[in-house]
Amino acid sequence: MIALPVAGIGLDFVHDDGENVKHVNIHGFPKDKILVAGIVDGRNVWKSSLVQKATLLHHLASVAEQLIIQPSCSLLHVPVTTKHEHTLPTELAGALSFADEKLDEIRMLTEYMKGNTTIDELIKYDEQTNIYLAKFREQERTNDITAVPLRRTPYNERKKVQQAHLHLPLFPTTTIGSFPQTNEVRQARMKWKKGEWNDNKYKSFIKKEIAKWIKIQEQLQLDVLVHGEFERTDMVEFFGEKLQGMACTTNGWVQSYGSRCVRPPIIFSDISYQQPMTVEETVYAQSLTNKPVKGILTGPVTILNWSFVRDDISRKHALMQLALAIREEVLQLEKEGIRIIQVDEPALREGLPLKKEKHASYWEDAVTAFRLATSSVKEETQIHTHMCYSQFEHMLHIIDELDADVISIESSRSHGELVSAFETYEYQKEIGLGVYDIHSPRVPTKEEISEQIERALRVLRPEQFWVNPDCGLKTRKEKEAIAALKVMVEAAHEYRERLLAYGGMKSWK
Ligand code: GLN
Ligand code: ZN
Repeated sequence: MIALPVAGIGLDFVHDDGENVKHVNIHGFPKDKILVAGIVDGRNVWKSSLVQKATLLHHLASVAEQLIIQPSCSLLHVPVTTKHEHTLPTELAGALSFADEKLDEIRMLTEYMKGNTTIDELIKYDEQTNIYLAKFREQERTNDITAVPLRRTPYNERKKVQQAHLHLPLFPTTTIGSFPQTNEVRQARMKWKKGEWNDNKYKSFIKKEIAKWIKIQEQLQLDVLVHGEFERTDMVEFFGEKLQGMACTTNGWVQSYGSRCVRPPIIFSDISYQQPMTVEETVYAQSLTNKPVKGILTGPVTILNWSFVRDDISRKHALMQLALAIREEVLQLEKEGIRIIQVDEPALREGLPLKKEKHASYWEDAVTAFRLATSSVKEETQIHTHMCYSQFEHMLHIIDELDADVISIESSRSHGELVSAFETYEYQKEIGLGVYDIHSPRVPTKEEISEQIERALRVLRPEQFWVNPDCGLKTRKEKEAIAALKVMVEAAHEYRERLLAYGGMKSWK
């Protein structure tokens, strides 16, 4: 690398596990190049300890002739500024540093290294941050998870109980959870947040939407219904607002994909469950229909991976606290008569560390968290999970270990690869391979959907197979969503009849 014809070399001194300092110490740094030191963490939202950074900078300055100070990576992952956050707890607000504030930290470090300011200024800055953080540190508790079940009865046994309880047909049809978040839905939420609408008005609006979509789903003849997630802005933020120990910003937008942005919650302290989060809407939806309504929750791994976690908290610790909180909600839903509960984990793979040697412990924690959240239910309660936009081929054993009764995975974009993975991996539980791409406004044809079903059935047994879209339908227009689901249900029914005529369904032994 040092032979490259460049004036400077940028190294990350934050996420390198000390490797870069080690190498610089061993090999030195070329005299003719600038060391561009990534010093301020570009991936978190916390103030840096400037004294610590200054110590590292002094060391680097002794090795390199010329030094430039910069963030550890592009500032794309963090919100722009804390200036417009007026609703966060004071202690928390005082400990935060978004992009603008990080640049300020870099300016302060640069001034100090140039000799324009003294270390006292950095000490003062750190002391302030510590005053804020100390408040949260006092609260930290340990989790005792030894008494919480991590295992359900064997799948083969509980599946019979579930079948008797749910009476689902062959090739059950369902959706992933959200229905279109129309302008009307978004405006209603805005009016409520601004105080123009009171809680009652907003709640009855949401109920009207739920009722409308329960009717639509019945007309479409879907088998497992959902309430539609109209009350949720985002699948992580919604839970972040309701769990203790997490805070949500008002303007902390970061890019999620393409032109879509989210406001990741901030995990600042012990996470705990306060009160039911999704029960009212789900139970209301269930009261309107005899078909099972599937409760939809976001899983602990996804909440963790799509939030900012305080630096000095162990991620594993936070993950298990999230798992216990989601478990409470699962049990509440079950207690209120919800027979199917889906715990979404679209970010399950996303948090996988780059370094191979860290994979095993990541997977172990992820699987434990999911099972903590879902293994306490009765045999007859069917647990679903959903994942999307990831490479699943090499992780079927992990998916298996989650022990969800049914998994729905995105696959219409890469159907071939995923389906062929099932040729070599014997998967026993039920699975819905998304039969159409929800990101396209185009309504699929019955032939296209049939082709997807056909392909899957080459490697999966019919009694394993669910028919569902790739992901939630929140980004679609109502008309598009309904038209596509109609085609999907027709295709599923055609297969169901065909197979029954064939004398197909001999299983459920
Ligand atoms: N239940 C969520 C939805 O339907 C899942 C979203 C996701 O997988 N990203 O919108
Ligand atoms: Zn999805």
